Amino acid sequence: MAEEQKEKGQTTVRKFGRGANECQMCGRKQGLVRRYNIYLCRQCFREWAARIGFKKMD
Ligand SMILES: [Zn+2]
Repeated sequence: MAEEQKEKGQTTVRKFGRGANECQMCGRKQGLVRRYNIYLCRQCFREWAARIGFKKMD
């Protein structure tokens, strides 16, 4: 009863809706920052970091 229904297919497990290798805000795949359990491109990460009051390292 608890058998996997592989025949019905398309039970792909993804971390996020559109796949885990793109920015969660703009969908860009370049310059991804994967930290703190977030997936953002560098630009979005910068905005996000500013919003939460992340301290600049430089
Ligand atoms: Zn982005």
